[in-house]
Amino acid sequence: MLTPLSLGSYRGRFAPSPSGPLHFGSIIAATASYLDAKHHQGIWLVRMEDIDTPRVVAGADTDILKTLEAFGLEWDESVVWQSKRHTFYQEVLDSLTQNQQVYACQCTRKQIKQRGGFYDGHCRDLKLCNQSHALRIKQCFPIHSFEDGIQGQVHCSDHLACEDYIVKRSDGLYAYQLVVVVDDYLQNITHVVRGADLLEPTARQISLFQQLNYPIPHYAHVPLAVQKPGFKLSKQNHAPAVDKNNPAPALLAALQFLGIEPDNHINVNNVKELLNFATKVYSRDKIAKTPEIVVKLSEAGYQFTVSAS
Ligand SMILES: [Zn+2]
Repeated sequence: MLTPLSLGSYRGRFAPSPSGPLHFGSIIAATASYLDAKHHQGIWLVRMEDIDTPRVVAGADTDILKTLEAFGLEWDESVVWQSKRHTFYQEVLDSLTQNQQVYACQCTRKQIKQRGGFYDGHCRDLKLCNQSHALRIKQCFPIHSFEDGIQGQVHCSDHLACEDYIVKRSDGLYAYQLVVVVDDYLQNITHVVRGADLLEPTARQISLFQQLNYPIPHYAHVPLAVQKPGFKLSKQNHAPAVDKNNPAPALLAALQFLGIEPDNHINVNNVKELLNFATKVYSRDKIAKTPEIVVKLSEAGYQFTVSAS
């Protein structure tokens, strides 16, 4: 049986995927989870979500860690790499298989799209045993809504809540939903603070925590920095990397994004001073309750208007 570390009162984490350098949006997420942990005298961890190997960029993990250090975001325990934890994920899959809670699925994306876009349980009773098929979980704990620490009550569609989702992909990789839940459990994470792009997968993760009989962490999702509505700042759409040689402007902007305005006596060019101040005054109540905020990146820096809805 897998057993987590001994229980702490607050354990948070930042879990970047090393597919490129950190951009302003990822610094907001990192800073928010750091401040939420430190404001509550918690432990803050960093986990490299490098399970999706085709997307991993060589050296990006080291660059991310150097950037976090430059921003003063220091983690408390050893960094964990998901690529080194296959044994844990397989152990959980084996136990799900033994308990007949997963099944092999041979449906293609195209076929699922033709059937309406949501998986309809087509292969549930086919008893396929080809190793190259994807594995889907039998959804026994559909979550239709949950309480988010920042966004409030979040509702999910019935289709999404009830879908038998993939826990192991047909290419042999463990699915994100599985590994994130297993790792949060094994690292004893009590609070997950992250960007609102992960709001939708949260319902699924909560249901998997229940299915595996793991304690469910608290979730809080900060607004996503977007270039225009619906388009998040991301590595995929070429958001520029933050400058680790001059971190203060991006850190100051990230704090302002989170509703924190430094007092006059704070040296805004000193990241340690900024973070110490921010840790004291941080409050989830200061963060806008909206899933997105439009951010303009210009030569002059970061420009955005935060207005709570
Ligand atoms: Zn199928």
